[in-house]
Amino acid sequence: MIDTILLGGNIITLVKNQPRVSALAISYGRVVALGADDAIRRLANAGTTEVNLDGKTVLPGLSDAHLHWEAQSQALRSVNVFEVPQKAIAVERVRKRVHETPAGEWVQGQGWAQDLWPDRGFPTRQDLDVVAPAHPVYLSAKSGHAAWVNSAALQRTGITGSTPDPEGGQILRDADGAATGLLLETAMDMVSACIPSPRTDELADMMLDAQEHALRCGITMIHDFDEPSCLAALQVLRERGELSLRVLKQINQRWLGAALDSGIRSGFGDDWIRIGALKLFADGALGAKTALMFAPYQGEPRNYGMAVVDKEEMIEFVRRASACGLPSSIHAIGDKAVHDALDVFATVRREEAGRGIPAPNRRHRIEHVQIIHPADAGRLAELDVIASMQPIHATSDRIAADLYWGERTAFAYNPRLQLDQGARVAFGSDAPVEPLDPFIGIHAAVTRERDGQPAGGWRPEARLSLHESLLGFTQGPAYAARMEDRLGQLREGFLADLIVIDRDIYQVEPEEILELNVLGAMVDGEWRFRAFD
Ligand SMILES: [Zn+2]
Repeated sequence: MIDTILLGGNIITLVKNQPRVSALAISYGRVVALGADDAIRRLANAGTTEVNLDGKTVLPGLSDAHLHWEAQSQALRSVNVFEVPQKAIAVERVRKRVHETPAGEWVQGQGWAQDLWPDRGFPTRQDLDVVAPAHPVYLSAKSGHAAWVNSAALQRTGITGSTPDPEGGQILRDADGAATGLLLETAMDMVSACIPSPRTDELADMMLDAQEHALRCGITMIHDFDEPSCLAALQVLRERGELSLRVLKQINQRWLGAALDSGIRSGFGDDWIRIGALKLFADGALGAKTALMFAPYQGEPRNYGMAVVDKEEMIEFVRRASACGLPSSIHAIGDKAVHDALDVFATVRREEAGRGIPAPNRRHRIEHVQIIHPADAGRLAELDVIASMQPIHATSDRIAADLYWGERTAFAYNPRLQLDQGARVAFGSDAPVEPLDPFIGIHAAVTRERDGQPAGGWRPEARLSLHESLLGFTQGPAYAARMEDRLGQLREGFLADLIVIDRDIYQVEPEEILELNVLGAMVDGEWRFRAFD
């Protein structure tokens, strides 16, 4: 029984010996045949739906290998201060929202980055108090590693100037010792933990909008790094028959014990919701200058950034997870954090080898790899650790990176370096830190320009080809999810996950990548969104 045949298309398979076909046939959610129109048409039977693509281009569905799905789902409903060029704009948007929000209720938002403001100074609670004297306000930074709150939020959570800094975090204080309203790393949790979270069914509702948005951007699978609440809401969507995206779910450090106690191993679940890896944080982020570095930040001889979980502790976690069948994915942005993560994997890989476990049985990964020490450049390849990178960060962070890291940026945001060393790369967006659209990521990887700046691309030697970029959003994540035998290409026996776009992405000028339109997205053989007849 053939359910659907696609005909008359420019179908890009990403399969080496059959890179393009015009037609394919789908049965029970799988691609069962590919070839010329005539040959595929002959397979049709009475119940088969024929879709004429009329020359449109088809790609394997794209995966986003790193995002925060719960946050993304909520972001669509909170105050958007994404990359506002001035603090005053953020404050004005908060003022508007406060106006529409019952007194005493939380106002949340995200996306500010003080690097983009004229004075580059951290904002304070007083900035927000003017417009929100009675509503607690919590605005997380674009990096996700700092939060800007008002006095009402500090009062609500009991933070004063005499509250000690939590481990792995910092409450910034003014000259008088009072909290300024700026919280770094784990200090953010002191406030965010007090904000009531949506019920599971409410969160599932929010996810529907986010899912629609993702499909319209060409995404058919995501790797999520949010909390168990996210996993629960995804399962509610599934129960309702409304889940249309595949999900690889990572397990945050806090929940490792619970997961292992339940006997959960990587691959648990199915091709819709599947358990991936343990997630650990080695350090902070560039924007907050908490990424852990070998040498200090430019102009701040004492600032080396911040370790969130130290090397010895990471080894314990990664070892324990690996012994129970879970690979690890370590967030590491600074060169010292990446170095430590590599040391951790070197140790655990040795132990795995001693137990007879081949490297491909544990899909370890480092998230971000934003800067790497030259001596470590080849170690991801050597240890078979996946470089999970977000090409969009190169264009959005470059000004801050040049400012804080100087000449060291020759080894920053560089998937080219990893590919040349033979490492596997998997690309994502880090949404809602960055926009979810993978074509923005592909454009950034290919050009390393944003709005034409800097002309010719930032550190242009790090540019990738279009093909390499596409593999990073298809086969790379498929490998990371241990689904490379059925995902990331269009070939016989593979999952029928594909997207239809309005032009041939291999033929367009790089600028035009941003203008491509996604016209349809099929997951598991069914159209989850279709805007053509
Ligand atoms: Zn992230």
